[in-house]
Amino acid sequence: MKIAILSQDPTLYSTKRLKEAGEERGHEMRVINYLRCYMNITSSKPAIVYKGKPLENFDAIIPRIGASRTFYGTAVVRQFEVMGVFTPNESQAISRSRDKLRCLQILARQGIGLPVTGFAHATEDIDGLIETVGGAPLVIKLLEGTQGIGVVLAETTQAAKSVIEAFRGLDANILVQEFIKEAAGADIRCFVIGDKVIASMKRQGAEGEFRSNLHRGGKAEKIKLTPEERSTAVRSAKAMGLRVAGVDLLRSNHGPVVMEVNSSPGLEGIERATEIDVAGKIIGYLEKNAVPGKSRDRIQY
Ligand code: ADP
Ligand code: MG
Repeated sequence: MKIAILSQDPTLYSTKRLKEAGEERGHEMRVINYLRCYMNITSSKPAIVYKGKPLENFDAIIPRIGASRTFYGTAVVRQFEVMGVFTPNESQAISRSRDKLRCLQILARQGIGLPVTGFAHATEDIDGLIETVGGAPLVIKLLEGTQGIGVVLAETTQAAKSVIEAFRGLDANILVQEFIKEAAGADIRCFVIGDKVIASMKRQGAEGEFRSNLHRGGKAEKIKLTPEERSTAVRSAKAMGLRVAGVDLLRSNHGPVVMEVNSSPGLEGIERATEIDVAGKIIGYLEKNAVPGKSRDRIQY
């Protein structure tokens, strides 16, 4: 097969591993900086031009779109879809997953376990908002945060009020969420491909830190999932329309709750922690499923 990896940086671990895994399996792999592509969107012959030449005859793409590049990145993915090229994650599914609120609303509709969550922009009724999630301690999140930045634990109602007021002053959209204390600073990353969890790891935050992000000093190790966690992860990816996804769960007293679903999950942490060839499994999925023109997104939100 001829496969394009859409990535801004060929030296990133995930990009290198995908290229390597594809080449090992005899495929022609090309890393394409999607920001440098331009498109002809006319209907007679839609095309994408990169380094002065049209990108032609690709069987599949692997989108690795940076969070801050969602707009242009998904436009390039969409153009490949128009050209009939297979993508495991379609442009719509990527856009959908980038909005934490939209993501939680879709999962809630499917009856998937979530932390109790409130959403607000500029409410006057801060007390009511805090009450919705059962009072302090609670977690406050900026809607557009990643890597743990913009996620705050407020231990008292007073602290929660000050933080919500501060965010309101910044004109930001915020989520207010029940604090899952029993997770004890750990979360679980489930790497889903198709309808299977192919690898999973537990990330534990640094001493005294409730956020488990590896970027915030968290440590990862492999973990065995319960059948309920497995099915929650698979159902979450499916609800979002993603066929490659990183589903993040917390172990709560009332079972697994989903925090977020990532459409470009990193490979480094999970491959190192589990010693599983995740890149090879993504290529394997393309080998089985990459049929031209198979655009299947049927999610309505
Ligand atoms: P980001 O997108 O910035 O990674 P997350 O929503 O994943 O934001 O939150 C970062 C980390 O904070 C999570 O990995 C988890 O360890 C912790 N965390 C987030 N929400 C909660 C919560 N409701 N209860 C307990 N811990 C949480
Ligand atoms: Mg996270």
